[in-house]
Amino acid sequence: CGIVGYIGTQAATQILLSGLEKLEYRGYDSAGIATVLEGEVHCVRAKGKLHNLREKLERIENPAKIGIGHTRWATHGKPEEYNAHPHMDTAKRVAVVQNGIIENYRELREELKQLGHEFRSDTDTEVIPHLIAQFLKADNLTFLEAVRQTVNRLEGAFAIAVINADYPDEFVVARQQAPLAIGFGQGEFFCASDTPALVPHTRAVLTLENGELARLTPLGVEVYNFAGDRLKKHPRTLNWNP
Ligand code: GLU
Repeated sequence: CGIVGYIGTQAATQILLSGLEKLEYRGYDSAGIATVLEGEVHCVRAKGKLHNLREKLERIENPAKIGIGHTRWATHGKPEEYNAHPHMDTAKRVAVVQNGIIENYRELREELKQLGHEFRSDTDTEVIPHLIAQFLKADNLTFLEAVRQTVNRLEGAFAIAVINADYPDEFVVARQQAPLAIGFGQGEFFCASDTPALVPHTRAVLTLENGELARLTPLGVEVYNFAGDRLKKHPRTLNWNP
């Protein structure tokens, strides 16, 4: 169970894969990566070791400069490819990776099914992209605001990272009782469940607190609380020998 994310000037796939390798010690049964390229979300997932995911990714040329990745330790739904993260909404415009457990996923899933959302997995996680898509469409919210409204509906412990095909220059992360750190580079930004995935790229790290979300763009990072107030936050410098 690990999360990584990247936005910047380099090709994202390789950076995400090596970040996931640094998080392997946390344990996992499957893995996946999603990027935004030419207005679409590209999602690749594989059961088993990262090697299986790497082999699939090597067959595709993908210069996307934004993406999220995940190693899954199944809690809800068998460790199969269709349950591996990232998970997407019905129209495949929003992709989400999550660590943790969404306690109220059954109610949310029923509510969203009633609204016409089509589920493809047995996970607790999949309610998240559908809920974000629902807020984007029905309430015509911005991406950040749709994620903020969504996390306010979730119960449990979670860390998430989200991309959106209609927002190719940003991704959003949120934290509630599960770890998430943001790495600050030059015109590039990273997120990860733990700092070993960040230190090959930067020592400037901001650890999100519970009840905080952040919007990452190639120009910088904005941090908010779940109520929507902008917070003044600065990275600290890690003193750590890899
Ligand atoms: N509860 C989620 C799932 O089973 C996430 C598990 C994890 O933290 O890897 O898909």
